[in-house]
Parts: sequence; structure tokens; C-alpha cells
Amino acid sequence: MKTVDITYRYETQDTPAIPRPSDSGAALLRLNNGNHAFATLLKSLSHESGGVQQIISVDSRDLGLLPGGEVVREQRPFAAILGCSDARVPVELIFNEGPNDLFVIRVAGNGLGTEVLGSLKYAVDHLRGSLKLIVVLGHSGCGAITAAADVFLNPAGYLPLATTHSLRNILDGLLVVIQASARKIQGAFGSDISRHPGYRQALIEASIITNAALAAYSIQQEFGTSDPTKLQAVYGVYLLETRQVWTPRVSELNGIGLAAAPRDAAGFVELGDAIIRSDRIASLVQTKK
Ligand SMILES: [Zn+2]
Repeated sequence: MKTVDITYRYETQDTPAIPRPSDSGAALLRLNNGNHAFATLLKSLSHESGGVQQIISVDSRDLGLLPGGEVVREQRPFAAILGCSDARVPVELIFNEGPNDLFVIRVAGNGLGTEVLGSLKYAVDHLRGSLKLIVVLGHSGCGAITAAADVFLNPAGYLPLATTHSLRNILDGLLVVIQASARKIQGAFGSDISRHPGYRQALIEASIITNAALAAYSIQQEFGTSDPTKLQAVYGVYLLETRQVWTPRVSELNGIGLAAAPRDAAGFVELGDAIIRSDRIASLVQTKK
């Protein structure tokens, strides 16, 4: 039977700690490389016999394992990640990271509520020394966005939610993204596309990437800088099917890896075009009815 071992190896004090990324570009590269290694490791299971192994080196001091006493090390994540609560998207695991590397916030639909913004503000204000990157990570098949898309497509389904304020807060915040994605798809493929059997799925998947991009844009406006070497916001969608992070770009429609947040309205138009033209979305609505 094929097996995969992912080992967190707690190095001794003599082993030098893995260097922290010195700027946002280095932090982005480290996360993209980490996800690539994770996805490649698991993909290799499908065409290799025996077992595969990956070792993630952890500085034991990050767990308070210091010689001569239980002194707790300071918090020093190089990236803050806003992800969905979905249990299939374990953030540290999919980026090949260990303790004290990532400041993680997870909430259904990875939206920017008050508590999320407050947590990010804490990280930006107090962890400036190590923090280089803020990531918004959506994922394919997101239940929160699927629910919002279904409410949009069938408003009568909204009624059962009318008195459930906690759920309404999440869904209401997503509806603007669903609406924009629907307009984009209909603009590209014609209004009849809404009767296509693949339309609902295309709307959900296009909304997932747009939602992550919009959150990253908002974070960049709120906390980021115009200097690309300083704190930057990036985004992407974790694909449950391949375990890779996907971010369509005009220059690279099937782009793998996290990408910088759109800079302005023109950046969102460009992203919308890239989403529509990507194989992932186009294949859903270009098959025969
Ligand atoms: Zn989700």
C-alpha cells in the first residue's frame, strides 16, 4: 500500500533556524514553494509505489524547548493568512510550514468581518518585525460561497435564513461578489448562459476567486504599502482537487501560486477577464448544453 509521511522534525539547538524571509517577495516565494512541494508530494502517490516522505524542519525553540528552562519565544510569523474554516484546508500543512511561521485566521467564506480585521490589525501593529505578507486564501467548493450563490440564483431560498442573523451576515457580505461574477459571466457568454447546466458551478468558482481578490485588495488598502518589498497582500484559491493554489492571471490563465492583490478597478476588470478565459471556468460553461 502506498503511504505518505510528512514529518515535523524538531531540530536541536545546534541546528541553525531556517532563515525568515527578508521581504514580501521572499515570503511569497517561500509559501508558493511550500505549496508546490506539498502538492507534488501527494501527486506522486498516484503514480509511484511504496512510500513518499517529506521532512519539515522546525526550530524547537518555537515550541518553547529552550535549554535550561521553559522560556516562551516571542511570536514571529512571516505571513498572516486569512482562510476559510473548511476542515479540508489545513493552512500550515498545505504550505509546508510549522509552528510560529504563520498567523492564521479562519472564518467561513474567508470574509473581512470586524473580528478578522481586528486580528489582522493586531498582527500588523505588533508583529511588524517578522510579518512580510498577508494572504487571503479561498478554496474550491467553498460551502459559504455556494450558499450565497444559491440564494442569488433562487432568492426564495433566502427566506429560511431571514431570522438566522449570524448566517445572514456571512451571506450578505458575499452577495456583492456573486452579483459581480454573474454580470461578468453573462457579459462574456450572453444572458442565456444562466440556463446552461454548468452555469451555477462556474458562478460559484468565479465568485470564490473574486471574493479572495476583493478581500486582499481591501487589506492592501487598509494595511499595505505601495513599496512591494514592504508588507503586501496577496491571494489565491486552494484547489481541493489538486492541492495546488490557483490564481488566474491574464498573462498566465492557469496560473499556479498566490498572486498580488489587484491594484485598482482596472486590475479587477483584468482579473475578471482572466477568470472567464481560464480553462477551469471556461470548461464549465463551454461544454454542450
Ligand atoms: Zn469555505
